[in-house]
Amino acid sequence: MNLIEISDRFPTELSCIEYAENIRFGKKVKCAYCGSDKLSVRRPDYRHKCFNCNKSTSVTVNTELHDTRLPLKTWFYAVSVITDAKKGMSALQLQRNISVSYPTAFTMYHKLRELMMQENKGTPELEGIVEMDETFIGGKPRKFNNPCYEPKRRSELDLLLEKYENEGYDFSPKESSRAKCKKDSKRGRGTDAMKVVGIVERNGNVVAEVMETLSYENLRDMVKKYVDTKDSVLITDNYKGYNSMKKIIDHIIIDHKELYSYKGMNSNSIESFWAIVERGIMGQYHSVSPEKLPNYVAEFVYRYNNRKDTTIMFYELLERLLETKNK
Ligand SMILES: [Zn+2]
Repeated sequence: MNLIEISDRFPTELSCIEYAENIRFGKKVKCAYCGSDKLSVRRPDYRHKCFNCNKSTSVTVNTELHDTRLPLKTWFYAVSVITDAKKGMSALQLQRNISVSYPTAFTMYHKLRELMMQENKGTPELEGIVEMDETFIGGKPRKFNNPCYEPKRRSELDLLLEKYENEGYDFSPKESSRAKCKKDSKRGRGTDAMKVVGIVERNGNVVAEVMETLSYENLRDMVKKYVDTKDSVLITDNYKGYNSMKKIIDHIIIDHKELYSYKGMNSNSIESFWAIVERGIMGQYHSVSPEKLPNYVAEFVYRYNNRKDTTIMFYELLERLLETKNK
């Protein structure tokens, strides 16, 4: 939702409050403490007095916004600006956009990232052609060969291709998922780098997690957690941690020392996702601390999985903000 749309839909603080009340209480506003609908008229501070329990109540009581002193409208606009920025934004940009202090913008953005992380837990199991790969945030550059040459014939991969195409998998690349040729990748594999592992379903959703050790056991557990291993074929590079994946799932290894893609068998989709993450983290966030990295990763996952309809993110995050917490 862009700024024109949100200012049409939510022009005033009252319009935001009424929207929030409708989400939380339905047609009739109730006391957030005791549930009674015997309330005073709305006061100038948008709160009501409850005639049953005598408390001063509002729509944000016991929600994520319980302690906020900001107008609801500021939150609505923050969610709009953040979800509308395709590549993410810095807290500094958010600060400028919604006229709050830098620490406030920073705190708001982090709360929203936590909610994105919760939303990501509802991602359906991945299936079909799934690609898995890892990236390293904050490490030294690692060199890649140019992936853009035409590969020679490979009979062992031709056999796999025939086998899986007979099972119904379609490896032909879709225009939008075709990765661009990168002559010089900036991905690092330095020892100080933080590791992130991702799995993407072709033309579908992505999952990604920060991983301490890239062992077979950890990688396998991640596949089991997120992928329908019965009805999927996994594509990875020849990193040793992936070598035994065929024990749990159909598996194609593309040896990146020799080639990057063979007749549509490649990990271009997950590579494209890493390009977004790396550009985003380097460009917008400069440096990310290890503690916060999972939140940043969650933001990119959430954006990617909602790339076809960004308005959904706006309404989902608003609903999350207004969910009641058990206190
Ligand atoms: Zn009450």
